[in-house]
Amino acid sequence: ARNSNETGIFLPHLVASMEQVEETYIMVKPDGVQRGLVGEIISRFEKKGFKLIGLKLFQCPKDLAEEHYKDLNSKPFFPKLIEYITSGPVVCMAWEGAGVVASARKLIGSTDPLQAEPGTIRGDLAVQTGRNVVHGSDSPENGKREIGLWFKEGELCQWTPAQAQWLRE
Ligand code: ADP
Repeated sequence: ARNSNETGIFLPHLVASMEQVEETYIMVKPDGVQRGLVGEIISRFEKKGFKLIGLKLFQCPKDLAEEHYKDLNSKPFFPKLIEYITSGPVVCMAWEGAGVVASARKLIGSTDPLQAEPGTIRGDLAVQTGRNVVHGSDSPENGKREIGLWFKEGELCQWTPAQAQWLRE
């Protein structure tokens, strides 16, 4: 439905500019909030040209943190990871755009901030894996799953950014 125009009528001349729209879940972790990096981190995605469709400050309960990171629950660092993510408010975001999942991962940089390239969020703003300031979904499927976990129905907004025609031909 996202790839049809707003009337729902299929227009062949629009096909060339239609790319698969994806969603990703981005989260400023508690260290990012405590260090005053919320604006800086949001700004990186905003300036790139992706569309913000969900945003909130939120104190994460333990069961949600465990569900979000369930694939890592056998790792030795799992208890500390849950403690970290629940240690203070986080900023939850849903971003939309063609290619947004992989592009956001590039903007974020490697899991270990010392390996992350300068210019990336972790490369510029963090020094340790256990305090790497931001999360980004690793696949379109996980993007959908995580947005479903962190946002309730009615918390996401669909809107048309005024700059859309200046971002894509
Ligand atoms: P990413 O967040 O880059 O997708 P992973 O999915 O591998 O990375 O890990 C999820 C999060 O778990 C990391 O961002 C980091 O906060 C934490 N983490 C991963 N590995 C370690 C580790 N060895 N020690 C401490 N925390 C870790």
